[in-house]
Amino acid sequence: PSSPFMPRMVAVFLIHLFDRGQAVHARRTWYRSGMKRFHLIVALVFAALLTTACRDEAESRQAEFYVFGTLTGVTLWDVHEAESQRAFARLQETFQGMHRDWHAWQPGELTRVNEALAGGEEVATSEDIVELVRRSQELERLTGGRFNPAIGALIGLWGFHTSDYPIIGPPPERPEIEALLAGRPSTLDIRIDGLRLVSSNAAVQLDFGAVAKGYAIDIACAQLRELGIDNAIVNAGGDLRVIGSHGDRPWRIAVRAPGGGIVGSLETGRDEAIFTSGNYERFRQEETRRYPHILDPRTGWPVEDLASVTVIADEGLLADAAATALIVAGRSGWREVAQSLGLDQVLLIDGSGKVYLTGRMAGRIELLDGIESEIVEFATE
Ligand code: ADP
Ligand code: MG
Repeated sequence: PSSPFMPRMVAVFLIHLFDRGQAVHARRTWYRSGMKRFHLIVALVFAALLTTACRDEAESRQAEFYVFGTLTGVTLWDVHEAESQRAFARLQETFQGMHRDWHAWQPGELTRVNEALAGGEEVATSEDIVELVRRSQELERLTGGRFNPAIGALIGLWGFHTSDYPIIGPPPERPEIEALLAGRPSTLDIRIDGLRLVSSNAAVQLDFGAVAKGYAIDIACAQLRELGIDNAIVNAGGDLRVIGSHGDRPWRIAVRAPGGGIVGSLETGRDEAIFTSGNYERFRQEETRRYPHILDPRTGWPVEDLASVTVIADEGLLADAAATALIVAGRSGWREVAQSLGLDQVLLIDGSGKVYLTGRMAGRIELLDGIESEIVEFATE
């Protein structure tokens, strides 16, 4: 049973037919040229050599990884075979390490850090986790606490420390929610000293579910760059970051619509991240009532105003955190939060499937006919 307010599927996916299209076009041109037989053979041999040369240089190379339970495709351009193998091996190791170290509930580095924070003890940890805390502090401040990864205990209380959705059953008891809210956990309670962390508030429990994917993709892109790879795309189930470009042909991605289908498509630009936060896939269900997995840290309850938010930003971490924060801000508050984050490429879909977009986003996306939409006035534009 699906509630009309909780559209089932909204996500972004990639369409890439370009390579195939080019190959077909090239073959037709050969046939049409009408050369003599000898010339044709010479041409074919030459073409074969050319194709081999191209295959070694300009072709795309792809690999897939699991990143936080999401099948993640990595595509590289203009990279030799050996180079791509090196890059993929490095990414495999990186993604595995993140999965192990950043997990909010499986025992590992982050649960160890959380235990120390709850006990008021100082704890030394990894550069990545310190950076996640530092960036989270900044983003929590800029979003007025709508994005707050210190609410791990609350997320756990709701049962969202699982990969098994939907969760069946009633919401937690109000007094339990109130008790955790009363602790007022905030990343700003954490003091950073080099690689050491200590919290002045025992209620702080870190859960990077809303930014981990974004930061993981950023790190992956940085590593690709270090390896001298300038053109690549890392796509974690529709959340993606592009570095460089795909030759002179941009990628076209589609934004999925609530309840299936798509609302439209857009071309990816150079060096940008596109992230969508949806309130429709992961939730707790009690009979026909749904409680989605994004919580308003100020009330302790799930937010339901918007079905999905898509954000384009320079980096994955910001885009990921922003998409979550804007869902929490809802229809009345998202503009203020987007402005404070310096973002002007935003698309929102409400519970009835209506699309709201900023002028800059409207200039990029091609909406399908019949999609109800509204361009929202936005002060920074
Ligand atoms: P998705 O990638 O599934 O669309 P998000 O990026 O929005 O989801 O992250 C949702 C996850 O973030 C939740 O599962 C939870 O772990 C955590 N979370 C939920 N609400 C908040 C919040 N207000 N601030 C920070 N993290 C949150
Ligand atoms: Mg997010």
